[in-house]
Amino acid sequence: MGPGIAIAESNIFIQDVSDTWLCPDPLIHLSVLRLDLIHPVISGNKWFKLKYNLAAAEEQGFDRILTFGGAYSNHLIASAAAAAEAGLKATGIVRGWHAAAQETPTLRHCRQYGMELLFVSRADYARKEEPIFQQQLLAQTGPAFIIPEGGQNEFGRKGAGEIAGLIPDDATHVCVSVGSGTTFIGLRQQLPDHQFLLGFAPFKNGEKMKDTLSPFIPSESNWALNADYHFGGFAKWHAALQDFMHRSVAETALPLDRVYTAKLFFGMRDLISGGYFAPGSRIIVIHTGGLQGNENATK
Ligand SMILES: *Cc1c(COP(=O)(O)O)cnc(C)c1O
Repeated sequence: MGPGIAIAESNIFIQDVSDTWLCPDPLIHLSVLRLDLIHPVISGNKWFKLKYNLAAAEEQGFDRILTFGGAYSNHLIASAAAAAEAGLKATGIVRGWHAAAQETPTLRHCRQYGMELLFVSRADYARKEEPIFQQQLLAQTGPAFIIPEGGQNEFGRKGAGEIAGLIPDDATHVCVSVGSGTTFIGLRQQLPDHQFLLGFAPFKNGEKMKDTLSPFIPSESNWALNADYHFGGFAKWHAALQDFMHRSVAETALPLDRVYTAKLFFGMRDLISGGYFAPGSRIIVIHTGGLQGNENATK
C-alpha cells in the first residue's frame, strides 16, 4: 500500500457464492458485489462517497479538504489517499487526545499519504458540525473544503447512489452494512422499487439509525434495518467473529473486515439458515471494503 496506486472501478465484479459455506440454502442465490477491489484503502463505498466531494472541492477552487474521523477510520484514510491522488492537500481532524499519544497504523498511513492530522478532545469532536467550531479549525489550516465525517452530505449520497447502477436488475434483495447511513440512503434513493434494501448496523442500538435514514427515504415498504449482529458494539471484537472471518477466506476466498463486513456476512448467513429469505431470492451483498482496518487488530 502507498501513494500512487490508481483507483480502479473496473476491478469491481460480482462474485457468485451461492453454493458455498456462506450460503447454507441451495434455494437461495447469493452474490457479492466486490467494491473492496477498487483500491487498497480508498475502498468500497468510501470512493463513491468521496468522488463528488473531491470534484466539488476542485470546482469551488479549494486546494485542501478537511474531514473528520477516529483513529481507525476507513473514511479518514480513504480521504487521505484520495486527496493525494487528486492532488489536493488534506487535513484530518482526529477524535480524542489518546489517538495522538498512540498512533495507529491507520493514522500512520494517513500521514504517509500527506494528510495533516489535528487531534481534538472528544468534547470538541462532538462539535464537528458546528459552524463556529469549523471556523476555528479553518483558522488553523487555511481555506479548505469540509467533508463531513463519513462523507455524509449530498455529494456523498449522490456518489453512493451510483452503486445502485452496479446491481443486476434481477436481484430481489440488496444487503449492505450501515455506518453513517450515507451509503444506504444513496442506494435506496437510486435502486428500483422492486429491490428490497436490507441494512445491517454493526453497533449497539442500531434501531435508532432509522431516524437518520427515514427523512431521506420516502417509502417505508422496501427497506429494513437489522440491528441484531453488533457483537457487543462498534468495532467490538468476538472470537466467533474471528473464526467466521477465517472460514470465509478459507471456504469462499472472501476476505472480510472485522468492523463492518464480517458482521454483515455473519448476519446474512444466519438469516439465510433461519429462512428469512424466500426460496428463489437473488441476494446481492455489497462488500464495502474496509480491509485496511484489520491491520489495527491486536490479534
Ligand atoms: C464506512 C463503511 C461502511 C458504512 O458506510 P456508511 O455510508 O457510513 O453507512 C460500511 N462498510 C465499510 C467497510 C465501511 O468502511
